Amino acid sequence: MKRLLSAIFLVLVLCSCATSEEDTLKKCGYSDEEITAIMKLSAENKKRFMSERQDELLKFVCNEDFVEENLDRYLQCYAASDEDLIIEKVNKGIMNKDNAARLRELYSSEYYIPEKEELYVEYLYRYLSLRDVIEMVNTKRYLDLYTDIQPVDMTKGNLILVNKYYQLAQDYEPDDLVEVSEVPGRGYLRKEVYEAYKALYEDAIKLGYNLNVVSAYRSYASQYSLYNRYLSIDPQEVVDTYSARPGHSEHQSGLCLDVSIPGYSLDDFHKTQASVWLAENCCRYGFIIRYPDDKTDITGYQGEPWQLRYLGKEISEDVSKRGITYDEYYACFVE
Ligand SMILES: [Zn+2]
Repeated sequence: MKRLLSAIFLVLVLCSCATSEEDTLKKCGYSDEEITAIMKLSAENKKRFMSERQDELLKFVCNEDFVEENLDRYLQCYAASDEDLIIEKVNKGIMNKDNAARLRELYSSEYYIPEKEELYVEYLYRYLSLRDVIEMVNTKRYLDLYTDIQPVDMTKGNLILVNKYYQLAQDYEPDDLVEVSEVPGRGYLRKEVYEAYKALYEDAIKLGYNLNVVSAYRSYASQYSLYNRYLSIDPQEVVDTYSARPGHSEHQSGLCLDVSIPGYSLDDFHKTQASVWLAENCCRYGFIIRYPDDKTDITGYQGEPWQLRYLGKEISEDVSKRGITYDEYYACFVE
């Protein structure tokens, strides 16, 4: 092919008095506009158009953001009809022939967050699954736990995120706490959360699941003493898998509660029918299981099938339907 092109080029040069390059291009079926774009190219690249129509090449050459020195890089990354994307990402030095396919997949993911593009690209090489990269970047798990700590964004109301990277103020206490009184158990919850829990409780009891509220709102001070009590039993890296450091507990938000079933310890809660029912149905009342067993890598906590987090019906149903953690959901759809 190369040799053929050179031969044609030679013929073209020899006959330049009779046939201009423009005429040759016209014979190949290019429009005037296309010819103008081609004529701006170096002699070397121009040659590529002189024997027959080159639609794939043309898509790049006629694009307003085309940079000639990147032409071969565009072609290495090309897949059907994505020349705009290729040109943009190759020009910025983000896309290359090795990551093009995975980047394309990344950009089409509903969990892709444009502001985090650089981080995805950085980690794309180190981890096998794209899903892992997205999860890790979106939830800041590429950082050590309890680093880069930010204050919880209280403007999010019921949708605040409290985790190992987001901390509640030491003096934060919800202003609408009500006492758990008409259902078994004890503690305080935000009013809306308590109302939603009562509805859940009433349906659960009809099915024979006698849920009991064992822990609800906890102040910063009580979380502080709880966490420190655990530290006297286990090393910190172990405590961190089952207890939150003060300011990082959802319990301080008044939006979550732990439930139990009489006769079962929390450690055995997962063996109960009630835990199965809760996992499948709590979203209908506005709750999610905040720390699922299979998401410990993301949440940083051992599975806690007994901890219910209130988000309201619409969001909790969406989170459950997607099968993702609230940490991921928040990054993509709330933050
Ligand atoms: Zn809890």
